[in-house]
Amino acid sequence: MSLQPETFKTLVKVAAERVIASAPELTSLDQAIGDGDHGTNMKRGFEAVLNKLDAISSLPFDEALKTIGKTLVMTVGGASGPLYGSFFLAAGEALSHSRQLPDDLAEIFGSGVTAVSARGRSQAGEKTMLDVLIPVLETLKAGAGQPNLIERVRSTAVEAVERTAPMQATKGRASFLGTRSVGHVDPGARSSCVLVQAVCASLEGRQ
Ligand code: ADP
Ligand code: MG
Repeated sequence: MSLQPETFKTLVKVAAERVIASAPELTSLDQAIGDGDHGTNMKRGFEAVLNKLDAISSLPFDEALKTIGKTLVMTVGGASGPLYGSFFLAAGEALSHSRQLPDDLAEIFGSGVTAVSARGRSQAGEKTMLDVLIPVLETLKAGAGQPNLIERVRSTAVEAVERTAPMQATKGRASFLGTRSVGHVDPGARSSCVLVQAVCASLEGRQ
């Protein structure tokens, strides 16, 4: 099975629309442990992606991912812009090395995760977007080719978001709060979950 261009376009559209719709929630999460801009940052970035949707979806998938990455770097701002930008740039780069979607999804997604970790000098357990991205990667690796993979990816992401609440942030603005960051869900973990859920929903054909 190979990914069709129309499916890819729908996937990007649904992901962007869901991030935009989740802006108020992301803002309120960031008001609790950050500076309250994560919703507007992400909304701005994904509106820019939506504006370029036709151009993006006419590109080969690797170039499309890189263009999404560059667009996010230029428009999102904050800490999350360069991090999400790095994810999509690295995923596009990995895909261009003769890998295929969806067969090599775990490897391509893994390149994105590695890039976020390198750029953020961060790892699992620091109460960041990586606390969703890493568990999702593990589920993708373990479940390649198995039934219910989409369902398992979705529940992994949702559960991973909740697991950020008891963590103490050691990276990003939330780390300035020390122990006061405990008890709140991480905004970037939640936006990663929104993106993952959107991809799952489009691949299942139920949006
Ligand atoms: P800022 O913190 O600059 O206001 P945003 O509010 O847009 O930027 O994004 C905050 C999110 O970015 C956090 O919730 C966290 O998930 C993520 N983040 C911040 N720093 C890092 C890092 N070093 N590594 C991974 N993710 C990070
Ligand atoms: Mg912020």
